[in-house]
Amino acid sequence: MEKSKKNTLTTAFGIPVSNDLHSMTAGERGPILLQDIHLLEKLSHFDRERIPERVVHAKGAGAYGYFEVIEDVTPYTKAHFLSEIGKKTEVFVRFSTVGGEKGSADAVRDPRGYAVKFYTEEGNYDLVGNNTPVFFIRDPIKFPDFIHSQKRNPRTNLPDTDMFWDFLSLTPESIHQVTILFSDRGTPATYRHMNGYGSHTFKWYNKKGEYFWVKYHLKTDQGIKNLTAQESEKLCGSDPDHATRDLFEAIEKGEYPSWALEMQILSPEQARDFPWDIFDITKIWPHKEVPPIKVGKLVLNRNPVNYFAEVEQSAFCPGNVVPGIALSPDRMLQGRVFSYHDTHIHRLGPNYHLIPVNAPKYAKENSYQRDGFMRTDYNGESGPNYWPNTFGGPAPDPDSGEPLFDVSGQAGHHSFKYPNDDFAQAGNLYRMVMNDTEREHLIQNIMSHLGKAQKRLQMRQMALFYKADEDYGKRLAEGLHLDIREVEKLASMSDEERLKATQEGNY
Ligand code: NDP
Repeated sequence: MEKSKKNTLTTAFGIPVSNDLHSMTAGERGPILLQDIHLLEKLSHFDRERIPERVVHAKGAGAYGYFEVIEDVTPYTKAHFLSEIGKKTEVFVRFSTVGGEKGSADAVRDPRGYAVKFYTEEGNYDLVGNNTPVFFIRDPIKFPDFIHSQKRNPRTNLPDTDMFWDFLSLTPESIHQVTILFSDRGTPATYRHMNGYGSHTFKWYNKKGEYFWVKYHLKTDQGIKNLTAQESEKLCGSDPDHATRDLFEAIEKGEYPSWALEMQILSPEQARDFPWDIFDITKIWPHKEVPPIKVGKLVLNRNPVNYFAEVEQSAFCPGNVVPGIALSPDRMLQGRVFSYHDTHIHRLGPNYHLIPVNAPKYAKENSYQRDGFMRTDYNGESGPNYWPNTFGGPAPDPDSGEPLFDVSGQAGHHSFKYPNDDFAQAGNLYRMVMNDTEREHLIQNIMSHLGKAQKRLQMRQMALFYKADEDYGKRLAEGLHLDIREVEKLASMSDEERLKATQEGNY
């Protein structure tokens, strides 16, 4: 009796509720009274339970853990959380699929998001990566079109293989990522059994102001494990949340997943002569030319207490970098710096940084931002709300800024002109990295998807596979019963000629 009294149900404002099974009615058989405030509050809150779903990366799972430094990287960066061997920093990680809705299956063929929030003493640092080192496009102006083409047909509301391959076959720079997507790595067995990559090139700078271009690789300690196409299809039906469950249960059992952080680091001098455009996210840096060095360890050891509060409301932005780390001219990175923050303001409101999972834990927000929906703290209390001021408000620290850097050139809508072979790295992956079984799976996976598209789109895409590697193109053409001489002809054409040759009505 005593116990239940202490645990009384209340309204959202703490007022005790007397009945939660029967609405207040006018008589035993009469209508409900508007004065049943508990009922009104209960229904109107329920009506607003859903927040906008992320346009991409809608389905995800997350966990807390820590990052530990194991190598001295102070010659490259002054970031405090990387300042000494053994230093540990709390993290929150969110894994996701990309194209599907919030209720979609975990096992689908899709890239996986791998976003890490480091709660550092210099503010929250977000590394917002994927499980692949490259991406389909390298300019954010194409992103909405790319995502539309991979989602649902505007008329039928069905995924549409014609839209999917129409866009990709008109986007030759996608061939590298397409090859990874349709390899076995396109269906990771679980979130624990895949790598994470920062994908973009970032800048690190040290206390002396010297800078380096870097790439992040988070290598799974569980080993890479992938699903075959058949296993993936089966899981999509029988256990659509298998990866979400796997992560949660592994951590509950004390089997804490971990990853080694390895970095590729290029000095500005090395970057000058580098054979690939280091700001083109469709390209990797070959390991032989830039061997990765082990820098730290990331461990996940604590599940969130509430999914919506901590995972659904978690918000990452690639622009959240701490002193010692900076952005690069990678165009996709520049676009994401805008788009992620903008998305979260739309999804969660202008004060999303106050939500506990997003708030800095070991640094203090000390800004002049005030007011707005859901300002749930004391809103800067009685302190000044403008800068400059002489009332003791926080002042900018010039030492925390990135050292000056050069930019030059004529403004214009420039295409990528720097060594721009979009096919070599996809070909290397096919020829030199994959074994016979992986190549066979790749061919089968592409055939079963591309085989459903219009023939003219198959032909246009086939030319890109052929340009990456002749054997790659020939095997696919053979499998789909396409004329290889026609494919060869299309492969020898310019992009414009190929587009013309594969217009509707042809093939
Ligand atoms: P390496 O032989 O040194 O590296 C190849 C890397 O490819 C491996 O280290 C592994 O990356 C990754 N890999 C292995 N099997 C597969 C697969 N089935 N699907 C996708 N990736 C796989 O060669 P290079 O560094 O010269 O790269 C050759 C090609 O390998 C690249 O063109 C690229 O397609 C691919 N690759 C390269 C990466 C890089 O950063 N250099 C990273 C990932 C892929 P990991 O060790 O990260 O698991």
